Amino acid sequence: MQATVWGGAGEHGRSCYLIEQGRTRVLLDCGVKKEGSGEYPLFEENVVPQLDAVFLSHAHEDHSIAIPLLYTMGYAGIVWTTRATSEQLPSYYQAWERFAASTQAELPYRDTDISAIRFKFIEEHTPSGVWYAIQPGLSVCWGRSGHLAGSIWLLLNVEGRLVFYSGDYTAESTLLAADRPQPELLENPIDFAIIDAAYGIDPDSQQQKLEQLRLQMEETLQQGGPVLLPVPTYGRGQEMLLWAREQFPDIPIFVEQEITVGLKQLLQGPEWLQLDAIERIQACLIDPRIVFVDSEEKRLQAVSAIGSRIVLTNDGMLQSARGQWYYEKLVEDNACCVILTGHLAKGSCGHRLLMASREQMEILDHDAGQVHFIRFKVHQGLPDVRAMLDVLASKHTILVHAGQQSTDALCAQLAKEGYANLHVLTAGGIWRE
Ligand SMILES: [Zn+2]
Ligand SMILES: [Zn+2]
Repeated sequence: MQATVWGGAGEHGRSCYLIEQGRTRVLLDCGVKKEGSGEYPLFEENVVPQLDAVFLSHAHEDHSIAIPLLYTMGYAGIVWTTRATSEQLPSYYQAWERFAASTQAELPYRDTDISAIRFKFIEEHTPSGVWYAIQPGLSVCWGRSGHLAGSIWLLLNVEGRLVFYSGDYTAESTLLAADRPQPELLENPIDFAIIDAAYGIDPDSQQQKLEQLRLQMEETLQQGGPVLLPVPTYGRGQEMLLWAREQFPDIPIFVEQEITVGLKQLLQGPEWLQLDAIERIQACLIDPRIVFVDSEEKRLQAVSAIGSRIVLTNDGMLQSARGQWYYEKLVEDNACCVILTGHLAKGSCGHRLLMASREQMEILDHDAGQVHFIRFKVHQGLPDVRAMLDVLASKHTILVHAGQQSTDALCAQLAKEGYANLHVLTAGGIWRE
């Protein structure tokens, strides 16, 4: 058996793993890395037309954007995913097209390659936790991964060898439900696992992160300042909106329309949600304290209002003109604080602002910085990876979705605790047995 990393291990982005056993070849995810003008997986072009199946764990760009390229290269088969994921994809492809245009980069695929994608929806063939035979020598089993509506983990039986792929996973969401992979699914031990370890040795639970976030926001709000929360269009933004509304019951909240659209879409798929989620979302949607920003007028109101308020805009790395506009307008108020909560690509505007703010804090030796970073967990850190390894008991494991240094440190820590056969790979790397 052989696993080849076309991207996503030892780095954040372009997740893409080729699994080969006997005569069967499958691909797990096919994303991009949002650095420079975009980095694509390290394809072996001659292998692409020979793939038996492609699986897509969720809609995020770092897992999905390069899928049309497979069709450019001659793949004509199925992409197995969920209906919810397929419905989110168009907005990601459009955003990527805009990003490519903004960096003067030419897209390596055509619109017709996007429309050529042949989806099959896994949940319409088999329920979560039940094996399904796709073709002789290839069966699949899936579960919810708690990361995004429609996001899944995958367990594959490839010619008798078991392969687990966590996708992007968290069991800590208060909004999205996650299924723990059940040991009874495993007739045999898992031969090879690819596990989301995006947060390296970060030991904190989500509860601890939320407490840090609450304290930081409270400080600003008590001083009468605005809090700007840049978040991605789909994902933690919706959960943070619900959380902020419940934590700060007297504070006005402005939320950009795309985030609201994402929130309403969640109502269409209650099967991906925690049991009380529908009720929480509906309460939020009719709350008069929340301004759903869908016009320039309301946008101006968000930046010119006086006093404490929370503003959510849909651009986690502050790359877009609108995100930067919010930033520039709001930081005119000295009491303003900007809290970045997720991945920041090197060179992104959010990353630069954070570095500049940290420098300022060092020079002035007090809390002069207005830009902060507090992680809102949508992936796994040390305790989560440990828990997953305990359940899976995989014979070999690669930890992925973080830079090499961070992954090395995590592997070293876990090895010290007695976990064996953990591997760090980078793009182009191969594991063989
Ligand atoms: Zn993701
Ligand atoms: Zn990811």
